[in-house]
Amino acid sequence: MTTLIPATLIPGDGIGPEIIDATLAALDALKAPFAWDRQIAGLECVKQAGDPLPQATLDSIRRTRLALKGPLETPSGGGYRSSNVRLREEFKLYANLRPAQTIIPGGRFDKIDLVVVRENLEGLYIGHEHFVQIDDDPHAVAMATGINTRAGSRRLLEFAFEHAVATGRKKVTIVHKANIMKALTGIFLETGLELYERKYKGQFELDTVIIDACAMKLVLNPWQFDMLVTTNLFGDILSDLVAGLVGGLGMAPGANIGADAAIFEAVHGSAPDIAGKGIANPTALLLAAAMMLDHVQLTEKATQLRQALDATLNIDKVRTGDLGGKANTAEFTQALVSRIANG
Ligand code: NAD
Repeated sequence: MTTLIPATLIPGDGIGPEIIDATLAALDALKAPFAWDRQIAGLECVKQAGDPLPQATLDSIRRTRLALKGPLETPSGGGYRSSNVRLREEFKLYANLRPAQTIIPGGRFDKIDLVVVRENLEGLYIGHEHFVQIDDDPHAVAMATGINTRAGSRRLLEFAFEHAVATGRKKVTIVHKANIMKALTGIFLETGLELYERKYKGQFELDTVIIDACAMKLVLNPWQFDMLVTTNLFGDILSDLVAGLVGGLGMAPGANIGADAAIFEAVHGSAPDIAGKGIANPTALLLAAAMMLDHVQLTEKATQLRQALDATLNIDKVRTGDLGGKANTAEFTQALVSRIANG
């Protein structure tokens, strides 16, 4: 008898429930042995429970230590604090792993195989912000504090370097802005260089690049990079850029991995502009599910899912609108499930 793996399922906001349904259909077809504990979070949850991240959801993840999550809406400016950031803090999800691989060949950028490893808990993302009043203007000055620690940097860099070795990456590039933010990003750069010298020298090549130059180089010649490792805000921006190299946000999965849990999701948001229309591309969340299968050592099922996706997109040429196709989410899911069923 197969042992079931307990896992929390959070459909989330906007297109979340639509892409979660598609992903569950594929995982069912794969006979992936997850015992789902369905929980709520996000905007709907605020309406229902007054909190975008209720205690029951947190308790579930604490128990399962594993979650598949749809996007959660965060209002810009005022409103409540991002539930995604709260989840990262609550479960110390310090590493954000965002692979970007070309699935549909022949695009503007072909044969991309990159991974961005982003520090997920520190830096300018910690939300220590305030306004300072001058005369009658209470918002005359806006201030933000960034915090990077040596211990936090080392933990993330060690995760990235171990991942590089385990997955056979040839080159790791530390992305920083230590020429200007000498303390805040200098500590990350120095820690990386020191760790490499001490423990990883010879196992892969280590390179460093300043964030602005990195953005340009990624557009001019992304093939010069293999793995990028960087601080929180830079990683946030770069991983969307890298998603653009492989066909957009609809194709980019992400994993938040930490001391207490691992949460898998699409890089994109809740796409309110297309929510409820049944046209969302579920590929990013499906690829996140493949990462989740790898994480629980069901690598054969992960490979089967990636191969079925490849065949659906490239042999059957069933694609959603964001990829220039005509299929809606249900038609795409049906084609994928048939591919999985037929091996
Ligand atoms: P978004 O990623 O939701 O959408 C950007 C554009 O990409 C939209 O035009 C959208 O239609 C399109 N798009 C995104 N995913 C798609 C898919 N699977 N298929 C087809 N098209 C897709 O970004 P946004 O509009 O800036 O954010 C909307 C909300 O999502 C915000 O509240 C934001 O805070 C939240 N968000 C959540 C997460 C998360 O939960 N991890 C990540 C990013 C943004």
